[in-house]
Amino acid sequence: MSASRVLVLNSGSSSVKYQLLDMRDSSRLAMGLVERIGEQSSRIRHTHVGNDDTREWNGPIADHDAALKAVSEELAKDGLGLDSPELAAIGHRVVHGGKTFTQPTVIDETVLAEIERLIPVAPLHNPANLTGIRTAQALRPDLPQVAVFDTAFHTTMPESAARYAIDVRTADEHRVRRYGFHGTSHAYVSRATAKLLGKAPEDVNVIVLHLGNGASASAVRGGRCVDTSMGLTPLEGLVMGTRSGDMDPAVIFHLARVGGMSIDEIDTLLNKKSGLVGLCGDNDMREIRRRVDEGDEEAKLAFDIYIHRLKKYIGAYYAVLGTVDAIAFTAGVGENAAAVREAAVAGLETLGLAVDGTLNAVRGDEPRLISPADARVKVAVVPTDEELEIATQTYALVGRY
Ligand code: AMP
Repeated sequence: MSASRVLVLNSGSSSVKYQLLDMRDSSRLAMGLVERIGEQSSRIRHTHVGNDDTREWNGPIADHDAALKAVSEELAKDGLGLDSPELAAIGHRVVHGGKTFTQPTVIDETVLAEIERLIPVAPLHNPANLTGIRTAQALRPDLPQVAVFDTAFHTTMPESAARYAIDVRTADEHRVRRYGFHGTSHAYVSRATAKLLGKAPEDVNVIVLHLGNGASASAVRGGRCVDTSMGLTPLEGLVMGTRSGDMDPAVIFHLARVGGMSIDEIDTLLNKKSGLVGLCGDNDMREIRRRVDEGDEEAKLAFDIYIHRLKKYIGAYYAVLGTVDAIAFTAGVGENAAAVREAAVAGLETLGLAVDGTLNAVRGDEPRLISPADARVKVAVVPTDEELEIATQTYALVGRY
């Protein structure tokens, strides 16, 4: 029997998320999360999907090497060990692929060196991704390891969308341009939306709204990204759980010169203490909606600012695309918060956009339309599946279909 399993690894600075999939039917065999790596209170939570069995283990896990060994041991308990001949490849989520990586790529020394060269534009993410890759390589040196980049789907953006209007030489010297992120999600959801409409991806224009704790929008023409809201880093664009999204860059000079803040303090302010949490103290949309329903003015203003920005991007990407077949909501907020979906398209009837209240209120795990049957532009809820997308791209590349 040929190898049909793919292990997907998403390595953060202090965590590793993983899923083991069987690509014969894209089913999940096991999944889990190692958290607080490097602390005394590390934790591994592992689910064996077949048995519906979840195990949790607490105790110190010193580093990524120990974390992956722990994952390997948990998988082995379920008869799914990393030494299995049925494992075809390991697919790694890599956050920043710069301009270089436009496709998923089998990892070799040259690829590792390039991911390392990109660290200055992704100082938090790429080092952790590299550690995950090197650890996995040490465990299974014989196995193909594939990097799937968060930025790759956006490399089709034209220069007019990808460049900032700053001095070209300075921008090029420091690789300052708009890269975009959440690419595997935008790729997966735009394709799934075309399928929901019964059309080929090449035949539809879609605006994808990935609204999770991090949030980004993209304009996808015929299956190719032509604009996206995140930029050099994930800070640009929509209002997010803890990130500000768009603002006048001079706010930074002002906070430094007048507010006496250091660059690191401003970085933390804009990435970790802004967005919804900065506006109202909460970044969970469920809590914010509960507060709004109770008449909380601060939460109401945070919600309104969030929606105002979202609406601006819908309008902007409508204009970029010219014609739009569908708008797709995805990720934690997009898939679950009916109030956000309703408010985001409210008043856009002249653009052919509307939400049917009854359909919008229905909950579910399947892609579904929430616009009235006769709507010119369809509005869809399409659950994202970044792990499946990484596994699919990985498996396609190692050629075991
Ligand atoms: P993600 O980053 O895609 O996992 O999304 C996480 C976010 O989704 C949380 O911070 C919440 O704001 C939001 N979320 C999750 N479940 C719900 C829900 N049932 N209703 C509203 N928002 C939700």
